[in-house]
Amino acid sequence: MMITDFEDTNIEFLKGVGAQKAALLRTAIGVSTFGDLLNYFPFRYVDKGNYVRIRDIHNESVYYLIKGKAVSKTMLGERFKSRLVVRLEDESGGIDLVWFKGQKWIEQKITIGQEYVVFGKPTLFKNIYNIAHPELELYDSATPLSKETLYPLYNTTEIMKKRGLNSKAISKLLQTLLDSLTDPLLEILPKYIRDQYPMLSRTEAYRAIHFPRNEQELAKAQKRLKFDELYILQIRILKDKRTHTDAKSYVFSKIGQLFNQFYHDNLPFQLTSAQQRVLKEIRADLRTGLQMNRLLQGDVGSGKTLVALMSMLIAADNGFQSCFMAPTEILANQHYQSITQFLLGMDIQVALLTGSTKTKERNRIYEQLSNGEIQMIIGTHALIEDKVIFKCLGLCIIDEQHRFGVAHRARLWNKSELAPHILVMTATPIPRTLAMTLYGDLDISVIDELPPNRKPVQTLHRYESSRYQMFQFLKQEIQKGRQIYVVYPLIAESEKSDLKNLEEGYHIVCYEFPMPDYHVSIMHGKLPQVEKDLGMKMFKENKTQIMLSTTVIEVGVDVPNASVMVIENAERFGLSQLHQLRGRVGRGADQSYCILMSKDHLSNDARLRLDTMVKTNDGFQIAEVDLQLRGPGDIQGTEQSGSLNLKIANLTTDEPIVKAARQAASVTLDKDPLLNLPEHQIIIHTIAKRFGATVWSKIS
Ligand code: ADP
Ligand code: MG
Repeated sequence: MMITDFEDTNIEFLKGVGAQKAALLRTAIGVSTFGDLLNYFPFRYVDKGNYVRIRDIHNESVYYLIKGKAVSKTMLGERFKSRLVVRLEDESGGIDLVWFKGQKWIEQKITIGQEYVVFGKPTLFKNIYNIAHPELELYDSATPLSKETLYPLYNTTEIMKKRGLNSKAISKLLQTLLDSLTDPLLEILPKYIRDQYPMLSRTEAYRAIHFPRNEQELAKAQKRLKFDELYILQIRILKDKRTHTDAKSYVFSKIGQLFNQFYHDNLPFQLTSAQQRVLKEIRADLRTGLQMNRLLQGDVGSGKTLVALMSMLIAADNGFQSCFMAPTEILANQHYQSITQFLLGMDIQVALLTGSTKTKERNRIYEQLSNGEIQMIIGTHALIEDKVIFKCLGLCIIDEQHRFGVAHRARLWNKSELAPHILVMTATPIPRTLAMTLYGDLDISVIDELPPNRKPVQTLHRYESSRYQMFQFLKQEIQKGRQIYVVYPLIAESEKSDLKNLEEGYHIVCYEFPMPDYHVSIMHGKLPQVEKDLGMKMFKENKTQIMLSTTVIEVGVDVPNASVMVIENAERFGLSQLHQLRGRVGRGADQSYCILMSKDHLSNDARLRLDTMVKTNDGFQIAEVDLQLRGPGDIQGTEQSGSLNLKIANLTTDEPIVKAARQAASVTLDKDPLLNLPEHQIIIHTIAKRFGATVWSKIS
């Protein structure tokens, strides 16, 4: 059904575009319809009244709008290397504008003595700022958009600029487009939602976002368009979730002998109140007869594994098998060991299945899974192979979500008659708003409390000049019986970078920490499995005191006696990665340390990251800063959820709108769960446009 004719019109039919420009718009910025152009928002607005004084230019990552007189123009260099340098001056100082391409044409355009408005990003060259390829226009005509005081700026590519499609040209196209509009744009939000949340109409909103008369109008337009965007996203997510919730699953009605025995006899400590609360939430899910789809978030060391284990005991008490999938063999081994330790003396069959399980053992496991003798199985991807058949799989635990994709979860589903209950655990501290959006299809439980008597890890930031003291400190710690991790960004030396690498680090460390007093393990992705296992085993048993590694040890490795984490070139790591690495220490009773080694000169972002690490141990706070620095697309754990395709809304700063949109979406779905009503057809149409033809998935 063609609902939004106007917006679906090919951009080629816009006056001033034509076939060639249309092709360019499509390939360069993905604009192929009128609607796409409307949704190509300015990345910034400049207040035309506010020119920056030339001497106040001080930041290479900021666009500046300046006004000045052209005082000279010079062609420098020979033929292919030639460049045009135009000197621009205002009352505060001067700056060079430089062109390496199209010099001739620009030179003709520029008149000495004329005033120009210039917009561009400065670069520092030999300690002096200049601006390469700025946008430039005569001061007189610098008011292209009549009354508006806010001047929109659109991202364009070099090729587009060369063919005359610069920011200003885009703005003109939008003017043409909006002028050609005879009827108002169709509303996406149903009338009952618009009545509940009074906002600009869509037409007004698009007009104002591209040509705002003032800040207030811009804010209103943004709010409206963000709301539309988030409403559509939430409808998509909630509809999925509701479909899910309808999936029938097994009823775990009782808490039985195994759980109770464990709780009273085997559990060596009190559960934290957060663990108790989460267990209650899980138990409630397991009783309903509908499938549980729950995400368990908890900072590293918060005791998620234990919660998982107790849920598995509930499954066993009710006659069901459960499986626990870890992303790596190291982790699967570790979980297996700690779980069997916890269950010592109890009458329950637990097994481990990974890629390295020997054929004979493997066949025994297959057999005992299918006849129901094995009640709990821990493993890696090996668990989802076709040969693995369960007698009655009732619960799947998936550890460290970000290494498993949607498809994996779906394959587990196939291993059971009804949908097994699913508990996904992640230590990636995703801010609430983001979690609500990304995992809108999952219910969320949070363990927001660490077990008592943990000493927070002390974090220090040190430079190369302190390396000697750092080594001395490590020696003291080893003297006390503690163990050390040192993490490098690279395995081997690389021509392309001067980063520290593990191979070189190994030589230095072996020199500083010689045998027989010291022993060193190494660990990285390219080592053969046997060597990985051996290195890890030696370190776990305290036969080696120092573990040199790449970030492969980032997730889950648990050696409570290790008390120092040294991270080389810490400036090169993302915040959540630094936090995960730090989480490898602070697991025992002793004071632990994280030492962030960095080079002397840091970018602003790198400094903020390291400062944040020094300042706080709170994973959620760190995730907030990370989200602000990188945007949601980069946050670990989000890649499998596909692109959210957000063009205007920001999940960090728009939390109130996210909530309102979610509320509105659920009103709509209450009214019309399958979106069959005529007034809801445009919603389906919009979703299809934004996310591609959607088959509502049965499993997320
Ligand atoms: P996570 O998987 O959340 O990173 P783990 O489940 O590995 O955390 O727990 C970290 C450590 O804390 C383990 O050694 C575990 O036995 C211990 N632990 C878990 N819960 C508690 C508790 N309530 N009190 C004391 N120690 C606990
Ligand atoms: Mg864990």
